[in-house]
Amino acid sequence: MNADLHCHSNVSDGQLTPVEVAQRAYAGGVTLWALTDHDEVAGQAQARSEAESLGMRYVSGVEISVTWAARTVHVVGLGIDPACPELVAGLHATRNGRGARARAMSDALAELGIEGAYEGALRYVANPELISRTHFARFLVERGYAASTADVFDRYLGEGKPGYVPHRWASLENAVQWIRAAGGVAVIAHPGRYKYTPLEFDTLFGQFLDLGGKAIEVVTGSHTPDQYREYADVARRFGFEASRGSDFHAPSEGRTELGKLPPLPSDLTPVWERWL
Ligand code: AMP
Ligand code: MN
Ligand code: MN
Ligand code: MN
Repeated sequence: MNADLHCHSNVSDGQLTPVEVAQRAYAGGVTLWALTDHDEVAGQAQARSEAESLGMRYVSGVEISVTWAARTVHVVGLGIDPACPELVAGLHATRNGRGARARAMSDALAELGIEGAYEGALRYVANPELISRTHFARFLVERGYAASTADVFDRYLGEGKPGYVPHRWASLENAVQWIRAAGGVAVIAHPGRYKYTPLEFDTLFGQFLDLGGKAIEVVTGSHTPDQYREYADVARRFGFEASRGSDFHAPSEGRTELGKLPPLPSDLTPVWERWL
């Protein structure tokens, strides 16, 4: 079983179409796959049909942007019904603020002398409802303001950097509820990326469990090998199931390739057992 349950298409901030991501996952040896676009399920039908025609098992997915304790947390929903009205309405509301936020980011960048960022970012956007920092990052790289998208986040768009615009996403409670209403399993994405204190982390994990959250990502393209071990311990301590996913976005953006991560530690319960 080669499960890759976290990645993006151009329906959010990835560069390939859902069909192309399916083909790349298959070429990478993935046998159980989920496309998990940010705040959007518009790619699910195409992803599933291409996956199934290639002979991969498919699990419907989404990655919901959440604000918890004044920071952004991503919650992946797996095994969702993408047509569930409560989920669809919740995702629509979550996407809603992105346009105004993008204009504010463009204004902040203009103050740094970077003109035309909104229009520039839009040229990279395939889904007009889903303009993200990644699209701005691609524009800034194109114009030579940074060497890579990662460099853009370090210098301009990461939390606290001069082009960063704080934004209020969904609540943890709502995000988990929408996923559960859609029959899915809620998974905390890449916990190693969040800058919480140990006490805040324990509170987050405890609340997530109380709300009906089930799993955390342990092996992800966003974690170092040390973090695989650290979050495997968190999974054991809290009784979480574990997930694995590349968080693939684009062939050229220096992140992990689909299907190429190490396996989960063998004592953990994979979140995908229920779909086998
Ligand atoms: P947004 O939802 O508009 O805030 O954009 C968040 C996206 O930016 C994430 O899903 C990543 O794809 C990307 N991102 C965030 N931090 C970094 C980073 N340090 N390097 C590269 N991409 C990043
Ligand atoms: Mn992304
Ligand atoms: Mn994420
Ligand atoms: Mn992601």
